Amino acid sequence: MRREDFPILNKQVHGRALVYLDNAATTQKPQVVMDAIIEAYSHWNANVHRGVHHLSQVATQNHEEARKKVAKLIHAQSEEEIIFTKGTTDSINMLARSFGDAMVKEGDEIIVSQLEHHSNIVPWQMLCERKKAVMKVIPLREDLSLDIEAFKGILNKKTRLVSVAHVSNVLGIVNPIKEIVKLAHEKGIAVCVDGAQSVPHLAVDVQKLDCDFLVFSAHKMYGPTGLGVLYGKKKWLDKLPPAEGGGEMIEHVSFEKTTYNVLPYKFEAGTPNYVGSYAFGKAIDYMQEIGLENIASYENDLAKYLEQQLSTLPNIHVYATNQPKAGAVSFNAYREDGTLIHPFDVGVLLDRQGVAVRTGHHCAEPLIDHLQVPGTVRASVAMYNTKEDIDTFITALKKAIMMFL
Ligand code: PLP
Repeated sequence: MRREDFPILNKQVHGRALVYLDNAATTQKPQVVMDAIIEAYSHWNANVHRGVHHLSQVATQNHEEARKKVAKLIHAQSEEEIIFTKGTTDSINMLARSFGDAMVKEGDEIIVSQLEHHSNIVPWQMLCERKKAVMKVIPLREDLSLDIEAFKGILNKKTRLVSVAHVSNVLGIVNPIKEIVKLAHEKGIAVCVDGAQSVPHLAVDVQKLDCDFLVFSAHKMYGPTGLGVLYGKKKWLDKLPPAEGGGEMIEHVSFEKTTYNVLPYKFEAGTPNYVGSYAFGKAIDYMQEIGLENIASYENDLAKYLEQQLSTLPNIHVYATNQPKAGAVSFNAYREDGTLIHPFDVGVLLDRQGVAVRTGHHCAEPLIDHLQVPGTVRASVAMYNTKEDIDTFITALKKAIMMFL
């Protein structure tokens, strides 16, 4: 799938052709995205929203066009519901501050799950400390899927918010978000979906999911670093206070009283990353040219092939097999005596053969603790990967394991 659009994929690493399977951490960028950044700084760089001059107007128009593209991508009702942030982590921290200030009081409960990324745990933990609220955790079943029966049991009238990953960054499992939202809404509880690993791989429709908030990062979907999105239903964003103060987010400022800007600017303090948003818009165009459904089905085939090939190897344990998945597959390798080969060692030996994977806790220590291992090896695919990449990876993995047997 248009591999030639990604110049970095022609690189050699340690004298071998690069096989990049660390896409859940960040994706590589197509030439159009890189060109957009050069174009912005070469032709129309100026601060947005405040200038009457030509360049500022072009910059503002480009930034706001990008917002419309994001709204369309996730089927938001309007671009007012799209807040640009620095990334998923920033989006969740902003929400925890804003929602937390307005909606959470002592004794209230926030629900996350056992498989969350630290970004979807720590900001809520910090909120719970500030407000003397309580964090509840959806446990996992034996097959590592979310225990929905247990979830029903912990939802109660003290629950203020449920914040869950759409797709696990470690296991690749697609969680039943629609069902989670439905169950929470039946009790009048809001849901935030961590879409960092779903928006890059699935056609996500916030109206169909009916989630109250969705957060994701541009850099995991062929866009630039330093940019992310906090989507919120208008009814929530209207009612919530801004998380940060400064320029852009105000209507009038005086020492007696400050009034806030309209949506979405109320939540965007300071100069926004308008070059990043423009480049992200180009990444979205790129994905849409290929087609979100086409990307999803291509990657799904690839991830299945990856899982199958891994499962045929002796001494490999693949986590959460035969479940709906998107993008990532985690596994561990064992010696013949059953002792674990440390994932870090596997990762280093793969790297020596030009294969980039991620090893360790993947910023999800509670999940790794649950698995009772020091970490996993994670291979994750993007639209530019091929079956040949997977074959090269499997050959390299066999060689790496041989060294430990
Ligand atoms: N949530 C999930 C599920 C992730 O996979 C990641 C990044 O790996 C994050 C949150 C944090 O994203 P970022 O580092 O772009 O803020």
